[in-house]
Amino acid sequence: MAPDKKEVLLVALGGNALIQKGQEGTVEQQFENLAVPVGQIARLSRRYRIIITHGNGPQVGNLLLQQESCELVPRLPLEILVAQTQGQIGYMIESSLDSQLMELGILAKPLVSLISYVVVDENDPSFANPTKPIGPVYSEEEAARLPYPTLKTPKGFRRVVVSPRPVTIVEKREIRKLIEKDFIVICCGGGGIPVIREGRSFCGVDAVIDKDLASARLAEEVGVDIFLIATDVKGVALHYGTPQEVFLEKLSAAEARRHLEAGHFPAGSMGPKIEAAVQFAEARHRRSIICSIAEIAAAVDGRAGTQFG
Ligand code: ADP
Ligand code: MG
Repeated sequence: MAPDKKEVLLVALGGNALIQKGQEGTVEQQFENLAVPVGQIARLSRRYRIIITHGNGPQVGNLLLQQESCELVPRLPLEILVAQTQGQIGYMIESSLDSQLMELGILAKPLVSLISYVVVDENDPSFANPTKPIGPVYSEEEAARLPYPTLKTPKGFRRVVVSPRPVTIVEKREIRKLIEKDFIVICCGGGGIPVIREGRSFCGVDAVIDKDLASARLAEEVGVDIFLIATDVKGVALHYGTPQEVFLEKLSAAEARRHLEAGHFPAGSMGPKIEAAVQFAEARHRRSIICSIAEIAAAVDGRAGTQFG
């Protein structure tokens, strides 16, 4: 199919695409896990132009733990750690994709992973109130000695950082150009490196951006046709994790908002995915989907996941 006739599909991969709950997360495990989504994406690239975004929670957590365990080298700020995870995960996705494309006989497909900045507003109300737990778990005494704010979570004390809303993706024009040429683009890893504008330049800030909200923003700015969020459940449920649980095959924006207000979608997990899916479906009048990593292809064909819009 001619590249300019192909619709654009954005796949936002959750952290479990690389490390599943309960796994140690060795590099071998991460490559093995990645083969599942990446194999489907390689086949979909025949019919769609593809953008891939991804989370970085476990990877950034491991880098923080490494920093905490070593006094010999200077500590790096969060923005640098996010950049590091974009590099490491971008490499892993890119090399997996390369092998899968070769296996399918799709030769010479151009692909690229980009270091991505995402602009946030320095007046975002979240800067006054860090709420997003990251990195290792500490005892109360350890937490008191840390140079940054911590919060008591069910697991123990953890560092908390601010999580401002994404305003715009700095590389959106470059991404659009690459997509027009049918490159597969891997970008906005970990929600992007958060930056604020300072005159004509950008300055990194110690924060993390939600990857689903950043992906929705990118999907709008680049003009994506299908926005798909892949995670470790088959889609959206009401009364999740209770005997009354019901799976939803379809969800309108109005219903989604009502269920969000009724507390069905927690802020730390399903909440931002719902918000991202609704935001995209409303802004573009196109389809968004929340589905499992194993069912990406079926969900694109409307046979799995929760379909919005
Ligand atoms: P990701 O790494 O893909 O962003 P998250 O853990 O942040 O994954 O979000 C997915 C999780 O959301 C699921 O594993 C599930 O436990 C949880 N969840 C919370 N509420 C719901 C709901 N109403 N329907 C489905 N899953 C839900
Ligand atoms: Mg998440």
